[in-house]
Amino acid sequence: MSFRPPVPTAVIERLKVAAGPGGYLDALEDMAPYVKSWRGNWVGATPLVLRPKTTEEVAALVKICAETSTAIVPQSGNTGLTYGSQPGKGMNEVVLSLSRMKAVRDIDLKNDTITVEAGVVLQEIQRLAADKNRLFPLSLGAEGTCQIGGNISTNAGGIQVLRYGNTRNLVLGLEVVLPDGRIWNGLRGLRKDNTGYDLKQLFISGEGTLGIITAAVLKLFPKPNETQTAWIAVESPEAGVELLAHMRATIGESVTSFELIGRSIVDLLLESMPVHSDPLRSVYPWYVLTELTGQGEPGSLAEPLSAALESAAEKGLIQDAVIASSNEQGKRLWKMREDFAFAQQHAGGTIAHDISVPLSRITEFIHRADNALLAAYPTVRPTCFGHVGDGNLHYNPAKPVDWTYERYVGERERINQIVHDIVVDLGGSISAEHGIGLLRLDENLRYKSQVEVDMLTAVKRVFDPANIMNPGKLIRL
Ligand SMILES: Cc1cc2nc3c(=O)[nH]c(=O)nc-3n(C[C@H](O)[C@H](O)[C@H](O)COP(=O)(O)OP(=O)(O)OC[C@H]3O[C@@H](n4cnc5c(N)ncnc54)[C@H](O)[C@@H]3O)c2cc1C
Repeated sequence: MSFRPPVPTAVIERLKVAAGPGGYLDALEDMAPYVKSWRGNWVGATPLVLRPKTTEEVAALVKICAETSTAIVPQSGNTGLTYGSQPGKGMNEVVLSLSRMKAVRDIDLKNDTITVEAGVVLQEIQRLAADKNRLFPLSLGAEGTCQIGGNISTNAGGIQVLRYGNTRNLVLGLEVVLPDGRIWNGLRGLRKDNTGYDLKQLFISGEGTLGIITAAVLKLFPKPNETQTAWIAVESPEAGVELLAHMRATIGESVTSFELIGRSIVDLLLESMPVHSDPLRSVYPWYVLTELTGQGEPGSLAEPLSAALESAAEKGLIQDAVIASSNEQGKRLWKMREDFAFAQQHAGGTIAHDISVPLSRITEFIHRADNALLAAYPTVRPTCFGHVGDGNLHYNPAKPVDWTYERYVGERERINQIVHDIVVDLGGSISAEHGIGLLRLDENLRYKSQVEVDMLTAVKRVFDPANIMNPGKLIRL
C-alpha cells in the first residue's frame, strides 16, 4: 500500500464548510468514540469525523474526498469486531459516520418490505416491523447499537440465520454513494430481477471498500405468534449436531436458532456475572440453546418440542433439558448467551476466532483444535460457543490463568495459525460472520487462492481505482 500523508488542513477546512455546522466533529474528546474499537483493543486517529444527514450530503463530501484523494472510513454503529470501522493511526483518513441518517423512507406491507436509511439502529427496525405485525429477523448481541448500514456492509449473521439466512438474504435493494461521489439508486423492492450482475451483492459484505451504503430495502416476514426456548445438555458437540438433525426432521423449519455452548464459557459467565444462574442442577460438558418459532396459536409448539426432546433422549442424544416456562425465562436464557462476550473479557481476554466449517466437520474441528492448542499451550482454556446450526463457532481460547494479557496476545499469530490451518484443512472459512477488516487481512490473503485474490483486487480497482474507500481493509491495493 502506498504512503498516504496526513489530510492537509486546507482539505479539512473545505470538508467542514461543506458539512456545515453540526455536520462534523473535530475536537479530540468528541471524536474519541469514533476511533476506538468496541473491545478497546484498537485506537486509531483522525482529524475529522463527518456526520452527514442526507444522501446528497454524503455525495457532496465524497466528491471532495475524490478530488483531493482523501481516504474515508465509513462507520455505522462501530460494533464491528475486525477493526474495519476505525481509522488507522496516521491522521490520513476522515471518518464518515452514517449515524445521523435515520429516516424510515417507506413501509410497504403488501410487498413486505421496509426502506430505511443506513444509520437506523437494528433494534429500531425490529421494533418498527413488530409494530406492523411483521418480523425483521436479523438479531445479534449488538442489536441495540449496530446500524443497518454496518450490518449490510459486514453481511451480519446472528442467531436466526438457520431459518432466515444472513443479511445478504434479507436485502432487496440498496442506495450507494460511489467513491467518485455519484449516487447509485438501486432501491428496488423486487424478489426477482435477472437484468444482469447482482451489483448490490458486491456492497453487501464489501466492508465499505467499494462505496457508502446510504439506504436499503429490507424484507419483512410474518411475525411469529409462538416461541419456545430450551436449554439442553448434550454429551458432546457430535451429539449436538445429531440433535439438530433430529429436531429438524421431527419439527421442521420452526427450528429458528440452535446454539452450541461449551461448559467452560458457562463457568466464566457464572464466575463473572452472579446475576446468572445455572439453568440445570447438574454440570454437563456441552449445551444447546434452541428456539422454535411459528405462526400457530401460542403454546402450539410446546408439544412438538417436548416430543422431540423425549425421542432424542430415547436415542441417547440428550442428557437433560429445561424448556422455558415463560417468555421471561426464555429471555433469561438468551441473556446468558449474549453475556458470553462480557464473560470473556472477565477471563482476562481471549483470542477470538469466528470460524465456519461444514456441519459434518464440526466435531472434528473442535477435537483437532483443542488437541493442537493444548499441545502447544498446556494451560490455555479452550472456550467455544456459537451458531452451530450454521456451522459457525466462536472458538475463543481464554488465556492461561497465570499469564498476563500482554504475554497471551503476543502468541496471537501462532494461535491463529494453529486454529485457522485446521479450519482451512476442513474446507472452512476463517471469518464466518464478522468479516475481514484489518484484523484478518493478512491471513485472508494467505489462505485465499491467487485467483480469488486477483478477482477481489480487480473488483476493488474498478470501483475505487484511487483507493480512497476504507483503504487497507478487506483487500490491499
Ligand atoms: C456484543 C457483540 C455481539 C456481536 N454478535 C454478532 C453476531 O452474532 N453476528 C455478527 O455477524 N456480528 C456480530 N457482532 C459484530 C457486529 O455487531 C456486526 O459486524 C455488525 O454488523 C456491525 O454493524 P455496525 O453498525 O456496528 O458497523 P460498523 O462497526 O460501524 O462497521 C462495520 C464495517 O462496515 C463498514 N460500514 C459501516 N457502515 C457502512 C455504510 N453505511 N456503508 C459502507 N460501509 C459501511 C465499516 O467501514 C466497517 O468496515 C457482534 C458485536 C458485538 C460487540
